[in-house]
Amino acid sequence: MIDIWYIKFSLRYVFPNFAPLNFRIQHTHIMKKHNYSAGPCILPQEVFEKSAEAILNFNNSGLSILEISHRSKDFVAVMDEARALALDLLGLTGKGYQALFLHGGASLEFLMIPYNLMKKDGKAAYLDSGTWASSAIKEAVSFGETVVVASSKSENYNHIPKGYVVPADADYFHCTSNNTIFGTQIKDFPSLDIPVVCDMSSDIFSRVLDFSKFDLIYAGAQKNMGPAGTTLVVIKEEILGKTGRTIPSMLDYEKHIKAESMYNTPAVFPVYASLLTLQWLKKLGGIAAIEKINNAKASLLYAEIDRNPLFRGAAKVEDRSIMNATFLLENEAHAPIFDTLWKEAGISGLPGHRSVGGYRASMYNALPLESVEVLVDVMKDLEIKVSEMKF
Ligand SMILES: *Cc1c(COP(=O)(O)O)cnc(C)c1O
Repeated sequence: MIDIWYIKFSLRYVFPNFAPLNFRIQHTHIMKKHNYSAGPCILPQEVFEKSAEAILNFNNSGLSILEISHRSKDFVAVMDEARALALDLLGLTGKGYQALFLHGGASLEFLMIPYNLMKKDGKAAYLDSGTWASSAIKEAVSFGETVVVASSKSENYNHIPKGYVVPADADYFHCTSNNTIFGTQIKDFPSLDIPVVCDMSSDIFSRVLDFSKFDLIYAGAQKNMGPAGTTLVVIKEEILGKTGRTIPSMLDYEKHIKAESMYNTPAVFPVYASLLTLQWLKKLGGIAAIEKINNAKASLLYAEIDRNPLFRGAAKVEDRSIMNATFLLENEAHAPIFDTLWKEAGISGLPGHRSVGGYRASMYNALPLESVEVLVDVMKDLEIKVSEMKF
């Protein structure tokens, strides 16, 4: 199979205009799973296909994207388009924002943010709504006074804290829009006079928000935008350069902006695959279009969690995430049957995070509605199987 395909590819290279050789990589022999993984996660099939093509022959250059210079004209165009398209999709073009594709995952942003935004004798305010929020807080603490305005930790983060007060003299307020592990999501963001920083790793580009309410948005690519290896950071430029700190070059947002996100070798392939995902989203109709689909998927699953007497949701209803739905079996004894059923249905990545247990269905942008229908059918099937067992 591979051999024929390789020969076809090689011939195509010799006869670039001979139509029968202009292949699309076919995956018809692969049985694709319904991938509910929390991250790295499912991406659109067309992104996998175009990425695969670019690894073999990028832009018909006769070179792989893995072997070209990041300073080549072709790759600079990729980086420029990815940065521009990210701002475009968020509705932030021409509003004083810059988009960067950096290294180090969302976790490196946990320390870059206080480095770049917390004044030498200043303070920062944080909302503690989950494990990732608390990791961000841990990093801020070593930079200066870190005020935790509210926390839902004592209830195992099953809801988003509300009714908190953010100190008006804080250098910034940090929150996490979607708590990937616990399945909660902020629906209303505070309007503040200080910079608002948001970790949107697991729900970026999934729902319509007024993104201009945020001064810094960041997201590890591997949840809803691309493969692991790059982090999108969107910054309102005017908030930078006010701390009085000496910032190491690689951690300095201003240096990365000046270098147009090429201060050092960027993660060439993850940035390219992210661009393909953003192009897919743009073609689909942008965030407004995907939000409708995401809402339909989440409604379908939550309706079954609430209807089916064998299951219950882990998060408070009003804070439920449309990206990560966490749910538990009422009776743990049913776990072996349920696990067998969903595996047989071709579902992958459903077990919950160890700190919640049960199950977590991550319904990122690329997960089709059909996959949720399959899961809901399995849950109904379990109900039938269990009722048969009783008699
Ligand atoms: C996964 C995740 C992170 C950590 O991302 P890395 O890129 O692995 O550092 C941070 N925040 C949230 C909300 C996440 O879901």
